Parts: sequence; structure tokens; C-alpha cells
Amino acid sequence: MRATKALIHLDRLTKNIAAVRRRIGPEPLICIPVKADGYGHGASAIAEAGIHAGASFLAVATVQEGAELREAGIAAPVLLFSCPLPEELDEMIAYKLTPFIPDKEVAAAMGAAAAKAGAALPVHIKIDTGMGRVGCRPEEAAGLALYIASLKALRYEGTATHLAIADSAAQDAIRAAKKQLARFNEALEAIKKTGLDTGIVHAANSGATLLHEDAYFNMVRPGILLYGYPPSEELSALAQTEPVMELVSSIVFIKKVKKGEAVSYGGTWVAPEDRIIGTIPLGYGDGLPRRLSGDFQVLINGKLYPLAGRICMDQCMVDLGPAADVNRWDKVTVFGGSEGAFSAGDIASKLNTIPYEITCNINKRVPRVYTTA
Ligand SMILES: *Cc1c(COP(=O)(O)O)cnc(C)c1O
Repeated sequence: MRATKALIHLDRLTKNIAAVRRRIGPEPLICIPVKADGYGHGASAIAEAGIHAGASFLAVATVQEGAELREAGIAAPVLLFSCPLPEELDEMIAYKLTPFIPDKEVAAAMGAAAAKAGAALPVHIKIDTGMGRVGCRPEEAAGLALYIASLKALRYEGTATHLAIADSAAQDAIRAAKKQLARFNEALEAIKKTGLDTGIVHAANSGATLLHEDAYFNMVRPGILLYGYPPSEELSALAQTEPVMELVSSIVFIKKVKKGEAVSYGGTWVAPEDRIIGTIPLGYGDGLPRRLSGDFQVLINGKLYPLAGRICMDQCMVDLGPAADVNRWDKVTVFGGSEGAFSAGDIASKLNTIPYEITCNINKRVPRVYTTA
């Protein structure tokens, strides 16, 4: 196996699930979003370990992602967050995915597809209370629920919404979340008035799991928190979870460069004195953002060293200083969960993005190695 790999610490996932369980109490179910290949961690391994650690539901964004879980032998309920095309419905039903339904048109199409397959398809109503993405308006929810209940091939199993602003304790943010939750509660009341049971009610992403107890209902859906990161830097102290992904590599080549000699494309880095330079077989083609060039350090034998010059597609160079304490083949921690190393959160804040994007972008060329230690 190549030097560069993503160690996936499943024991930390288990601990993170336990931390969420302590926070939410014994009642609410836990749904683990494993979309985008489990935020880059490997969907089926995360799903299996997560279910083993007490999660009840999984969630994906595409039918293809759901199919992959089923092909891997995972039997737990799988929610489908995004709206599939009509031509994907047969596959969605064959793989026993549980869709969100945003309107009657989709309900009718899913009802027809389920009837054709002879299946009773469990579905969750998706209400748009302010995210502005997919879902019915709150005042349409009761009508949609009645319509779904009238279709024999559909089984109304749950009711969901998604919060647009849940990761900040600033007053405006709290107010925005409360407003969404109030709209959601009104819609739930309206559905109950028709005599229907709202089923499994869920709204909380990671931010709401940390900040909004009144968003727990019957199930929470924290993603990034279970992968070990707070949904925003502001909530770091609350998160108390550990990064599950650790990106590692090795020094595969060491050389001396003389004062004034340049390293990597464009010659942007010039040795200020005689230096030892190491080469790491990791680049933007693996998902290490090229924009980190000139602004990143990796951990080797417990010490941070800066990268030298531009990050290439497949390799990058590290400035090991004037005298090498580092040997060829030594292990390099790039980010995640080793004492002293940068985290995906640190990288995200350098690049003005969120840790989600950093772990998601570590791509297929990087083997995932699952560990419980
Ligand atoms: C991605 C997603 C989540 C999880 O969000 P995090 O911020 O990672 O906790 C929950 N619900 C829905 C509908 C999502 O799309």
C-alpha cells in the first residue's frame, strides 16, 4: 500500500457517538449522515461501526450512495436526503431507501413506483421551514401528510426539517433557529389535527445537537460532529469529539539544497541557507488543497515542519531545517488527531472554508485504513 493513507479511527467514531448520546439523553434515535462517502471517511465502514455503536438510521444524498451501502450488506434504514429523478425511483425502492417527500408530485410518483414494485415504501415528509432547499411549506404539510396517507403503497413514517443557521450561539442565529423550530412545531400540530401520527420527528444537525435541545424531537442527524469536528469554530469548546480521520504519509526522499536554490514549480521557495528537504508523496491530486502552498506544516516525529514551495499534483516538499532530525521513510502526519498536528478544522480556517470540505475532498486515490486503536 502507498505511503499516503487516511487512517480512519473507528474507536473515535464510537466515542463520538457516546458523547452525542450523553448530550441528547437516552430517548432520541441517532441518524448518521454518510453522504459523500461518509464525509470522505468511507460510507460503509462508518455505517457499520456507527450502527454497532448505537445509531439507528443512516442517511445518504443520492440513490447511488444508498445502493453502495446495501451492496456492502448494510440492512439499517437509510434516509435519502436529496430529491431523486423519476427514473431513479425503481432503484431507490429496490435498494430499500427511505426518501424525504417534499410535495404531492413526488409523493404520487413514489406511490406509483412502490405500487408497481409491490412494496410498502416508508417515507418522511420534508418541510422547508427556512432552509430554502427542498421541502413543502409548513402550511402545506398537513395536506401532504393526508395525501401520503391516502396512497396505499406509501407508509408515512416520519417528519423532518433542516435548520439553516444552527451553528452559532449569537442572538440573531438563535432567533433564526427558534423561528424555524416554531414553524416546524406548527406544521406538526396541523398534521396531528388531521388524526395522523407524525412518526419519527427530526430536525437537528450537528449545530442543533450542540445548541438546541428543543430540536431533538425523536431523532438527531449530526454529521460533522460524529466525524470529530464542531460545525463552526465558535462551537469548538462544546463539541468534545475527536477527529476520526488522520491523514498520514512518509518521507520518501531526502536531499540537501544549497542556499539560493529553489524548490518546486515556479521556484517560489528559495533556500535562505543550506537546507534539508524531504519529499512527501501527497498532493492536490489526493485532495490536499494547493492553496495551502506556503502556509502549512506537517508533523514528523512530534515536531512541525513547514512545506517548501508549491504543492504539486502528487507530491509536496517539506523544509526539514538546516540539520536533519528526520530520516527517509519516517511517518508524516498531515492532519487529524495526532497530538500537535494540524486538524482539518485548522486547514479549513486557513482556507476560509469548513472542515467538511477538507475531509470530503481526500479522494479515492488515498486508501482508507480502518483502525480501532
Ligand atoms: C448533511 C445533513 C445533515 C448533517 O449536517 P452536519 O452539519 O454535518 O451535522 C443533517 N441533515 C441533513 C438534511 C443534511 O443534509
